[in-house]
Amino acid sequence: MQGLWRRAAVIGLALGLAACGRGGVDAKRIEAADGSEWLTYGRTYDEQRFSPLSQVNTDTVSKLGVAWWAEVDTDRGQEATPLIADGVLYTTTAWSKVYAFDAKTGKPLWNYDPKVPGEAGFNACCDVVNRGAAIWKGRIYVGTLDGRLIALDAKTGAVAWDVQTTDKTRPYTITGAPRVVKGKVLIGNGGAEYGVRGYVSAYDADSGKLAWRFYTTPNPKGSPDNAASDKVFRDKASATWSDGVWKESGGGGTVWDAITYDPKLDLLFVGVGNGNPWNHKLRSGGKGDNLFLSSIVALRPETGEYVWHYQTTPGESWDYTATQHIMLADLKIAGVDRRVVMQAPKNGFFYVLDARTGALISAEKFVPVDWAEKVDLKTGRPVEAAFARYNGGQVSTQMSGALGGHNWQPMAFSPKTGLVYIPAQHGHGFYADPAEFKFIPGAWNTGMLRVAGGPSAKAPAARPGMFPAKGELIAWDPVTQTKRWSVAFPQMWTSGVLATDGGLVFHAVNNAFTAYDAAKGAPLWSYDTGARAIAPAATYAIDGEQYVALMVGNGGAGGKDQPRQRGRLLVFKLGGAVTPPAYPAPVTPAKLDLSLATPSKGDADKGSATYNLFCGTCHGAGPYLPNLATSPAILDPDGFKAIVLDGALKANGMAPFRRYFGDAEAEDLRAFLLWQAAQTPAPTPAAPTHAQ
Ligand code: CA
Repeated sequence: MQGLWRRAAVIGLALGLAACGRGGVDAKRIEAADGSEWLTYGRTYDEQRFSPLSQVNTDTVSKLGVAWWAEVDTDRGQEATPLIADGVLYTTTAWSKVYAFDAKTGKPLWNYDPKVPGEAGFNACCDVVNRGAAIWKGRIYVGTLDGRLIALDAKTGAVAWDVQTTDKTRPYTITGAPRVVKGKVLIGNGGAEYGVRGYVSAYDADSGKLAWRFYTTPNPKGSPDNAASDKVFRDKASATWSDGVWKESGGGGTVWDAITYDPKLDLLFVGVGNGNPWNHKLRSGGKGDNLFLSSIVALRPETGEYVWHYQTTPGESWDYTATQHIMLADLKIAGVDRRVVMQAPKNGFFYVLDARTGALISAEKFVPVDWAEKVDLKTGRPVEAAFARYNGGQVSTQMSGALGGHNWQPMAFSPKTGLVYIPAQHGHGFYADPAEFKFIPGAWNTGMLRVAGGPSAKAPAARPGMFPAKGELIAWDPVTQTKRWSVAFPQMWTSGVLATDGGLVFHAVNNAFTAYDAAKGAPLWSYDTGARAIAPAATYAIDGEQYVALMVGNGGAGGKDQPRQRGRLLVFKLGGAVTPPAYPAPVTPAKLDLSLATPSKGDADKGSATYNLFCGTCHGAGPYLPNLATSPAILDPDGFKAIVLDGALKANGMAPFRRYFGDAEAEDLRAFLLWQAAQTPAPTPAAPTHAQ
């Protein structure tokens, strides 16, 4: 009991300190963060997502219940980490909207809708999500799906400035959270599957004026950009690219998630994504490492000047991004105190690098991986398996796949246990050269064989032993590079993680939000959120009470296997006794009555190829977006064309496809979907609610 009182006193003291700093959030306040607030995406600049709060702990967590909750107006994916400052909780939702609540009571204070056009959803590979805002000196900063960076008054939500950070003629999106360092707002973007050139930008927090930009791939015209990246491309990076499709596509390399700052070394670390096309043979003639794809790049925050880089996957050819969470820590390794950067990127190796120099300290597999035997610590390069580059017309079925051994869901590090908690994924991917490839601006341009699923299709055989995919929460010792404990789940796509000084690790699988003992992995408490949660939780304290906040709402690249529900924000505290209403049961689409269909004279095999190129990525994986083989829209050719070609549903994100194909191809597509509908078994009828 004494311990609890002492903890309460510490929280009270912390609140007193925070109250002194009400001049607005700045670096001093972020670095001195005591746990009562959550002031940047990963809580503090090191992005450890570890809270020093301990009122909710291994002894008390069983009393955790909902203190207040709110529902938002979208049922797309919710990936945001809430921020808490000066008693206000700020969060973002799908479609880049911002909400402010009284963090103690849940009273709504304001909300802001940047009015992203629905069509912008077409450019998003992985849902219309947003991972959060930044706060700095009385303003909230948010990136929008249509490529803007917006500054809002933190008290009112009024727009202070709104700048376009991308070329609107290219399929760029922003889903990541901005970070503010030394008065500059840092923001990247996404779009590497479609064909863009990646970069990270710094904008002046006061004025919204561009301060610097660092490109991650060379200028396709061969000319300088007048950007911070010019020198390093001239000196060494351009020479790592050969002739290929990158000159049309921009090469990819988007900075769509990790941006981490080290105030001790005054370095910024950005995570760079995969190439466009994925296929290295098409992108760069199979030649060269293609800097800075799949790399961690260290930059000077004031100028964007290059300092060092480490490339996890040279000559990237599998969507093995290194955009995943970058975390800083002080570790004692082989008796030496090291300041390290840690990352668990898609390729399945856990990397520990020297933060000052980028030197590789260690790299080991944290999930089953067979595309590379190991990482050679002398050269820093992976030792690739012979089959991995799918040469000579071969298909490579390899681990990991494009969803990665770890995706955007943030990890957490507890300095108390010395463990990194990774929401890991076991999975595999098929990789093969296409029979032919033509870059189509704005379309899915990965340069992979896409297996048509039409009447004449033959699918490549999977190698045994790779199924099923699964998820695993891993407590990883970054010093010994070994697993300390783990919990496995049938679901691959789980939530981000929070660790606390209360000895807890918070993580959600589907709608089970669970607190584990951080040292041993035993589940201590679980709460049914009613819908799948994928976001990481945040925690804060007000008036001596600790709160845990979680955004609920399924979505993202791996969320397509489950239906959608309205996004919710759930905020917990000890003794919380509020019960949010149950969600409505998801509606199972009925089997189409094909006797009502206008028969099609289209070619279903050709339609299958069109489906694979343009439709399958979003519509093919499950109930998240409509299964087209159950859509009444395919019954009638005119209605079908109005939606597919002319954008009748563009406000929902269904952009018009007439820029890619015409009436004949649309009818082939409809023929394929009618064929598919005829193969689709009737859904299991719901149990009757009363006797007839
Ligand atoms: Ca990608």
